[in-house]
Amino acid sequence: MLARVFPLIDHRQYAQQQSAQSFADPLPTGNVQDRLQRPLRDLRISVTDRCNFRCAYCMPKEVFGSDYPYLPHSSLLSFEEVTRVARQFVALGVRKIRLTGGEPLLRKNLEALLIQLAELRTSQGEAIDLTMTTNGSLLARKAKALKAAGLNRVTVSLDALDDRVFKRMNDVDFPVAKVLEGIEAAQASGITNIKVNMVVKRGVNDHEVLPMARYFQGTGVALRFIEFMDVGSTNGWNMDAVLPSEEVVRTIAEHMPLVHLPASAAGETAQRWGYAGPNGQYLPSLGEIGVISSVTQAFCGDCNRARLSTEGRLFTCLFAGQGFDLRQLLRSAATAEDEQLAREIATVWQRRSDRYSQLRTPWAELPDRAAIPKPEMSYIGG
Ligand code: SAM
Ligand code: SF4
Ligand code: SF4
Repeated sequence: MLARVFPLIDHRQYAQQQSAQSFADPLPTGNVQDRLQRPLRDLRISVTDRCNFRCAYCMPKEVFGSDYPYLPHSSLLSFEEVTRVARQFVALGVRKIRLTGGEPLLRKNLEALLIQLAELRTSQGEAIDLTMTTNGSLLARKAKALKAAGLNRVTVSLDALDDRVFKRMNDVDFPVAKVLEGIEAAQASGITNIKVNMVVKRGVNDHEVLPMARYFQGTGVALRFIEFMDVGSTNGWNMDAVLPSEEVVRTIAEHMPLVHLPASAAGETAQRWGYAGPNGQYLPSLGEIGVISSVTQAFCGDCNRARLSTEGRLFTCLFAGQGFDLRQLLRSAATAEDEQLAREIATVWQRRSDRYSQLRTPWAELPDRAAIPKPEMSYIGG
């Protein structure tokens, strides 16, 4: 049998350096915008490139084997460095910070980082919205400590309720029950805003859409269905495996009536649907679902998200070929001024014109997908 060959492009080798604004320019504050007038509001921080799962859509076993060259510890930003960078982002307009990875709960003593980030304040003195995306495998053990450290929201990824299907998807034989235990522990710890992310792959777990919706209805947990995305270059993506969100909504609505809900915040990635009560109106006690249609209905128009990779590179798009090296700045004694950091970040954002998802459709017109270099999700942070 022929071995599968993946066109692996190591984005960790490509750092982009740009000259900052001149010091004569006023320091940008509060409302920095990119070339398409999109503000900077959301920062996703990858705290590790490692994971204990091997979801085929993200870290397929064939590529991320035991000999995979993960980043050495010295390459990672320290918690102090992460907080210092995050502080500049908040000064430039960021209101929401999401810790991600890899699996963020594998990073030792993550609570210490949460404590530091929870202390950040906007220029109006408001706390930032602090959240995390996790596979839930370690949540039962850590929920209490995370809450105590300042985590008020969490998103847990769970792709199926059927144990066999879930184990096939995480590819490390991890049972559903332990993730559900993690979600319950998060609820019990007082984390109030809990979401569940389900990546839907046609022919793999699409038959789990309805059981998942039924299970989480009325529990206070909002279920989000994510279209299988063409991130990175190792997950063997193809359009046939994408179940369009429209089909997800139709499937659920046939059994559990839904009403469309307005977006809760500008730049929100999910379209929200609430469960309707007997009178056909949204019944909040039944809760809501969301669909994230990154493939079939691109939402670049109001994308306000920046990503900080595990080793401190700033990416302005999930599909950006290059990241801007903030770590080099942070660690260089000559330029270690917070003001310069803020100027560099602002410059990168102001030059941004990314809208990959909009440009890549319609599918038929895309000449050679493999030729477009894209970073891996586990490195850049989802
Ligand atoms: N390990 C954590 C987890 O799984 O929640 C955090 C990192 S993971 C990269 C963040 C999110 O990205 C998860 O909800 C995961 O399901 C999603 N994801 C990863 N690869 C994806 C893909 N190819 N398409 C859509 N979503 C993907
Ligand atoms: Fe790990 Fe999350 Fe990627 Fe799955 S989606 S392999 S849990 S980082
Ligand atoms: Fe934002 Fe890039 Fe995704 Fe468009 S493709 S929504 S610009 S991250």
